[in-house]
Amino acid sequence: MNVRVRRSAASKNKVSRDAIVSLLDKTLRTAEITDRSVNGLQVEGAAEVSKVGLAVDACLEAYEKAHALGCQMVIAHHGMIWEGIKSVRGPIYRQIEFLIKNGINLYASHLPLDLHPTLGNNAQIAKILGLRELRPFGVYHGAYIGFEGVFPRPVTVKSVSDAVKKAFGGPITTLPFGPQKIKRAAIISGGGTAALPEAVEKKIDLFITGEPDHSNHHLAQEGKINVVYGGHYHTEKPGVIALGDFLSKKFGIESIFLDVPTLV
Ligand SMILES: [Zn+2]
Repeated sequence: MNVRVRRSAASKNKVSRDAIVSLLDKTLRTAEITDRSVNGLQVEGAAEVSKVGLAVDACLEAYEKAHALGCQMVIAHHGMIWEGIKSVRGPIYRQIEFLIKNGINLYASHLPLDLHPTLGNNAQIAKILGLRELRPFGVYHGAYIGFEGVFPRPVTVKSVSDAVKKAFGGPITTLPFGPQKIKRAAIISGGGTAALPEAVEKKIDLFITGEPDHSNHHLAQEGKINVVYGGHYHTEKPGVIALGDFLSKKFGIESIFLDVPTLV
């Protein structure tokens, strides 16, 4: 049940940055998906890449890890640039300075990675939890970013929260206000609480997301729905890890998950 955090086999293969960027852009449909994140290559580094580091958050600690491990590229779910850069000073300056000095490329994929039908955070969570008959769920920026599905046999909230804890390792919060026997569940990784009314409306038995929101308590209680929060960071690891495995297989280069959990 554990999310596979593996370091791909050591390899001397090198591939051009442009080939990686173009495969990512095509696979994730980067240009087609509206997002606050500036998805795609955010900072240009070395032209050739033999090792890629995958991170949930673009931050100095992840870049330092990547550099120490010999990566020439970091791919982050939460990139550094959101709706453009207004100034290059303070933390942003230091991040850019570190990346450029050390020749590290930074590629970001926010919503394109959440919603991807096989590599995405939500598709991966559904697969790990064994949900079937997946259908799009959770409209955000005009597109579905999550999935709903059914368990092969009815399950309890406790069994799902235990499975989420075991698979992703984050702190679990549960609102047990829905049916005892759960058949239908909906998933939005990370900060997905805006989709809770949609889950209530669609009479979903259990809504799984990452980060709790105070206002959800009464909404869930009055909507008679169960909610399991698996942590923003922790529910956004599976797509990032799957993307690393995908690149390793495609190009025969190394990929490594840069685990830098947040305290939020
Ligand atoms: Zn997120």
